[in-house]
Amino acid sequence: MSQGTAVAAMRGQQDEFNPFLAMAQRFETAADHLELDSGIRDVLRTPDRELTVAIPILMDDGSIRVFKGYRVQHNFLRGPCKGGIRFAPDVHLDEVRALAAWMTWKCSVVGLPFGGAKGGVICEPRELSMGELERITRRYTASILDILGPDRDVPAPDMNTNEQTMAWIMDTYSMHMRRTATGVVTGKPLGLGGSRGRREATGRGVMISCREALKTIGMRPEDTRVVVQGSGNVGGIGALLLHREGYNVLSISDMYGSVYNDQGLDVPAVMAWLRDKGRLEGYADADHLPNKEQLELECDLLVPAATENQITSDNVDRIRTKLIVEGANGPTTAVADIELERRGIVVVPDILANAGGVTVSYFEWVQDRVGYFWTEEIVNSRLEQTMVTAFDEVHQTARKYDVSMRTAAYILAIDRVVSVYRMRGILA
Ligand code: NAD
Repeated sequence: MSQGTAVAAMRGQQDEFNPFLAMAQRFETAADHLELDSGIRDVLRTPDRELTVAIPILMDDGSIRVFKGYRVQHNFLRGPCKGGIRFAPDVHLDEVRALAAWMTWKCSVVGLPFGGAKGGVICEPRELSMGELERITRRYTASILDILGPDRDVPAPDMNTNEQTMAWIMDTYSMHMRRTATGVVTGKPLGLGGSRGRREATGRGVMISCREALKTIGMRPEDTRVVVQGSGNVGGIGALLLHREGYNVLSISDMYGSVYNDQGLDVPAVMAWLRDKGRLEGYADADHLPNKEQLELECDLLVPAATENQITSDNVDRIRTKLIVEGANGPTTAVADIELERRGIVVVPDILANAGGVTVSYFEWVQDRVGYFWTEEIVNSRLEQTMVTAFDEVHQTARKYDVSMRTAAYILAIDRVVSVYRMRGILA
């Protein structure tokens, strides 16, 4: 089947949107290039450890409810596991497995001494009080305590969890250990051992990836028209930093709609409006577009930084950009990838482009362990160094194997894990 026919055949099929299959497909492509045998593939496909826990909670109304939580550690060959904890009604073990593997590859591609993990609790946070959320967090932490720790597994915030959640996890772990162990989680408040620069780190990493990618196609920031999907931690901060570096940001969106100005947006003014009003709707100095149309705007650089499965077989034909830098996790489906590659659109993949966040999480963990905290300038310059090196290594790998940046990032990440695996061998 030709690649074009493959895209047509997958159109509208649910499998296209399954994160587990998306990850598996990219893994197998890279493993083929590395000519990995089936034994090693099996090792890398299989999570090292999966824990399912029951979380009984005394609710505010006096009733008892039992929630279900997971922690999946995909691989700890290169160091302690690292990965977020999400609270959501649709948390599913398959999804947690895929996200844990994703973290292994993300940490490896930027050279961090971590393996990958992910956790989740099935709950609807909007229907829970602060007290109930705290009790869920603490009981979940106590239930997975045996596999946590600064040398074992270091969680971080993810969907619907935040600095406060991390503070509760840190406190619960510390109370059980009979000592304050700040290095057990990252994404903590500054006063509890958080790192300067962590909040901006993912957006900053996206900005650095954009700059490095532009160099490869011979473009300059001031000639680059940018569309950013999303205006949260990644998209909002990414857009602000790109604007500051002289890029012409034409459009930004939130979940309700997009603002567009063909002469370029005043990004600080847009973000100030958003902070003030809570949504982009009503912002004066721009046209307003439905989100579906935003992704199809003609531009030089598209930064999907909102959510997964945004560039798919349904709209890939109408994407009009030279470059895509993935701020979000999984914004492009594997089927759309094929078509983007055929059309010569360069994609800087999520596991590289948004790795700034986990990189500064690593810096936070290092600072906590040493007990000595860095200035924001030091954090930012080390982040810059890490991202530029990783970008360059992925770019070189893409040339060496004559593959896309996505496949190259997976090749590099998997190869690093495999080489450690070969050095360590198997405990009989
Ligand atoms: P966030 O909640 O701060 O922001 C999400 C933004 O996307 C909001 O502006 C929201 O209104 C908008 N949005 C949601 N659905 C949309 C849609 N369909 N169209 C347009 N806009 C939409 O989240 P975030 O932390 O910025 O994360 C965004 C993505 O980046 C996620 O995929 C996340 O997993 C990934 N990511 C985040 C980090 C981090 O450090 N925050 C690190 C790595 C990856």
